[in-house]
Amino acid sequence: MSNSGAFCPRCGDAVELPRERRMERGEPSLCDACYFDDFELVDAPERIQVLYCSDCGAVKRGKHWEDVGAKDYTDIAIDAVTEELTVHVGAESISWAVEPEQVDETTVRLTCHFSGVVRDTPIEATVVVPAKLASGTCDRCGLIAGDFYAATVQVRAATRNPTDSEIADAREIANEYVAEKEAGGDRDAFVSSIAEVEGGLDVKVSTTQLAREISNRIVDAHGGSVDSSERLITEDGDGNRVYRTAHVVRLPPVAKGDLIDPGDDEGPVLVTAAHQTLSGIRLTSGEEFGADFEDLPERAVLGERRDAEETTLVAVEDEHAIQVLDPETYEATTISRPSFVDPDAETIQVFKHREGLHAVPADE
Ligand SMILES: [Zn+2]
Ligand SMILES: [Zn+2]
Repeated sequence: MSNSGAFCPRCGDAVELPRERRMERGEPSLCDACYFDDFELVDAPERIQVLYCSDCGAVKRGKHWEDVGAKDYTDIAIDAVTEELTVHVGAESISWAVEPEQVDETTVRLTCHFSGVVRDTPIEATVVVPAKLASGTCDRCGLIAGDFYAATVQVRAATRNPTDSEIADAREIANEYVAEKEAGGDRDAFVSSIAEVEGGLDVKVSTTQLAREISNRIVDAHGGSVDSSERLITEDGDGNRVYRTAHVVRLPPVAKGDLIDPGDDEGPVLVTAAHQTLSGIRLTSGEEFGADFEDLPERAVLGERRDAEETTLVAVEDEHAIQVLDPETYEATTISRPSFVDPDAETIQVFKHREGLHAVPADE
């Protein structure tokens, strides 16, 4: 190997390097002595700060907050220091390890050991970086604390109040969808408030997209329609208009489990499904029933399935009639015999209402 012709630009000594490495980044290479004089294997920050949200535990990484779950903040500190460390480009076969040491409640000392090979020479370095944990409030928790919301879902029902089970279901649909978005890493998705109000349920959420999807899911499950509108709230600091959207879910005039009088003189109906159209069971015959909501008379609802009471089946009179005890007066009363009544039963469910007394199918 010939070294002739190469000299260190700093001290003038002959450079002992193979020909192909005599230039570094466009300049003649230093000799090993000069090179190692000011060589730093690792460039580490003097200290790092880990900012976490004292409400939800999220950690700030760069400009963004990230949910880290139950992960230890020591791991977060190690991640943060790892991101900020740089190892010299001239080093090869690098290996390293970090030893964390809890100094006090808010300080973790990270001792980082490195080894590598530089110009065929094994080299080691140790740097100590203190990591300070600082608590704060993330953007989302700040908005929630300030009662921020961008959109509302108002669950209402046409000509009646939503039932308890519709309210409970709407609540669950909202919480579940927002949880889905959060689980997918969407930190902009949150429920600001859910409150039962006169006539239904009000859900306030952080984005219009959430409100739109929640409304659609409620209608998919319970029928009805959605009316959306937007209102200018303010202009933000950059002159952008800030809108708030309202999505009114109007549930159908009857709900599953309602007992209704469809107004056709053939007796009441138990509603078994109410979506775009309505289906049910005729209480006089047990036959299936179907109708459009607009064909129902006003005040069609007589009561709910759970208003039914158990009473004694006294006798089966004939194909069309049975005798039961009136649950209020205990008088033996003849009523229609629908196909769902088991003639051998000792007791059956009946429903007493403004139109009379009727047998009701047993609860599924
Ligand atoms: Zn030199
Ligand atoms: Zn937070």
